[in-house]
Amino acid sequence: MLGGGSNLVIADEGIDGLVLQMGARGVELVADGAATLVQARAGEPWDEVVAATVARGLAGLECLSGIPGSVGGTPIQNVGAYGQEVSNTLEAVAVFDRQTGRPAVLSAAECRFGYRMSRFKRDDANRFIVCDVTFRLRPGPPTVTYPDVVAHLERAGVASPDVAAVREAVLAIRRRKGMVLDAADPDTRSVGSFFMNPVVSARDHARLTSAAGPAPSFALPGGDVKVPAAWLIEHAGFPRGFASGPVGLSSKHPLAIVNRGGASARDVLALAVRIKQQVADTFGVRLRPEPVFAGFDGDDRDVRYLCEA
Ligand SMILES: Cc1cc2nc3c(=O)[nH]c(=O)nc-3n(C[C@H](O)[C@H](O)[C@H](O)COP(=O)(O)OP(=O)(O)OC[C@H]3O[C@@H](n4cnc5c(N)ncnc54)[C@H](O)[C@@H]3O)c2cc1C
Repeated sequence: MLGGGSNLVIADEGIDGLVLQMGARGVELVADGAATLVQARAGEPWDEVVAATVARGLAGLECLSGIPGSVGGTPIQNVGAYGQEVSNTLEAVAVFDRQTGRPAVLSAAECRFGYRMSRFKRDDANRFIVCDVTFRLRPGPPTVTYPDVVAHLERAGVASPDVAAVREAVLAIRRRKGMVLDAADPDTRSVGSFFMNPVVSARDHARLTSAAGPAPSFALPGGDVKVPAAWLIEHAGFPRGFASGPVGLSSKHPLAIVNRGGASARDVLALAVRIKQQVADTFGVRLRPEPVFAGFDGDDRDVRYLCEA
């Protein structure tokens, strides 16, 4: 299944099989008490749905502004950014189950969401075709928790932001980081972040900090900490703008591997492998990739190494 293709690394040989691109369009909004149920077909461009909910003053998706791709792609990796994930407000996913040959409706709990993860990406990869996604949104205050968003709004002098102000802040921050698709910006020729932020123990975090200076971290319930993969990559010797032939890193964001012109999928994988190896050698942390690899041989060495924990 192909959505917008924004989170895929496709083998240079292509895909030996049938590829379907989801084209179903349409959005319905239905009041349900104080909430609004927003049911969007899988082929809707994601950011248009976000913009439509923000225009109605509905909170819940505003921090997910500017993410490329389709509605149907969002539950696959539990799309998230700037303090929100789709799983926070997702009510149900209507699917076609290729195993049973029947349509079904999955609740959020049944999707088994995690950080950039769901059953659609892991245990049940390729089993379900996502047909539409329903969100439960409410009018009300936006989510303003992420430090970059807080700082941006403070600098702009916005004391009590509404959802529209948060959408504008997120779009401005994302554009600065080359994370909004823009044909004129070569830093946006990527799959977005190539690696997920690893979760390490507090002891390992202290070790990182003693090795390379204070490592930023987000505390998680239970005592573990999430460390920005971008920090590990930069401190392992891959600065923003790093170039290696036709591939490199965005000049604005070390987490995005960019096609500098004429790069093959193998070139992208080779740089990703080099980064994973160097981060593991320097910090003992094994980065995991975020995009989906399609068309590669089951025992492709690079893909296997990248996906290894
Ligand atoms: C510049 C840039 C910035 C990005 N920023 C973010 C970000 O901030 N946060 C984030 O989480 N992601 C981000 N991404 C990644 C990507 O945009 C999201 O993962 C998006 O949801 C992928 O949707 P898509 O329609 O493009 O999916 P595709 O890339 O087409 O497919 C991705 C996976 O979803 C499956 N899929 C797609 N549609 C369906 C369907 N209808 N039914 C079943 N399976 C389906 C595909 O088979 C594949 O496995 C970014 C990407 C780019 C290029």
